[in-house]
Amino acid sequence: MRKTLIAANWKMYKTPAESSAFLTSFFPLVRNNTSTEIVLCPPMTSLTSLVDAARDKSVFIGSQTMHWLNEGAYTGETSPTMLTAIGVTHVLIGHSERRQYFNETDTTVNLKLKSALAHRIVPIVCVGEHLNEREANLTADVLNLQVAVALEGIDPATLAPLVIAYEPVWAIGTGRTATPEIAEEAHKIIRAQIAQVAGSDLAASTRILYGGSVKPDNAAALCGLEDIDGALVGGASLDPTSFSQIICNASPK
Ligand code: PEP
Repeated sequence: MRKTLIAANWKMYKTPAESSAFLTSFFPLVRNNTSTEIVLCPPMTSLTSLVDAARDKSVFIGSQTMHWLNEGAYTGETSPTMLTAIGVTHVLIGHSERRQYFNETDTTVNLKLKSALAHRIVPIVCVGEHLNEREANLTADVLNLQVAVALEGIDPATLAPLVIAYEPVWAIGTGRTATPEIAEEAHKIIRAQIAQVAGSDLAASTRILYGGSVKPDNAAALCGLEDIDGALVGGASLDPTSFSQIICNASPK
């Protein structure tokens, strides 16, 4: 049984005061939710206050990135021990914006995944093809390589917490959503690749989220599919009403 997971990626939006105001409106809207794991990934400066505010609520707080080392001379970075010390439970790894603007690669994704697992932080590893790769029929090759390198050298027995987010780069922040057929096909490719590199049991239990212009009106069609276990939501997660509607529409009935 794969529990539905809906995660919000707030990117570089919301001050701590704006983040707290979101929660004040959001909690009542999801108070009856039990079927879905809800994760909010705010900017670093809002992590502490959101962890405190979400204590005893069934909402988890995740980081949008982290370094793989515990400490060191890495100006501007945040370590896994710093995140767990304040109560962060999830982390996005290898979001396409991190890959595009901050030089993250499949190799750093692998290092971060190993580190997250070692620190018992739930890793949400983002993969997805660019438009030119899709148009050149390279989607399967790209996804297979991203998943294979991400999982390289990791004992499958330690991978139970793994979450993958399939985020076609051409659908992120563009308003252009993958059709349910395109998304389901990509999720099947990813699941088959997990089976190939880490075994069919892990493939069957790994949650694979869809991300890319998810909105209240397309969440049900996407998340109702066999291989889609939830969503990673950017723009539409910034508003408490719209994000709660996505959760409601995507949750198993
Ligand atoms: C994202 O940032 O991961 C994302 C999917 O953004 P959006 O929902 O805005 O496309």
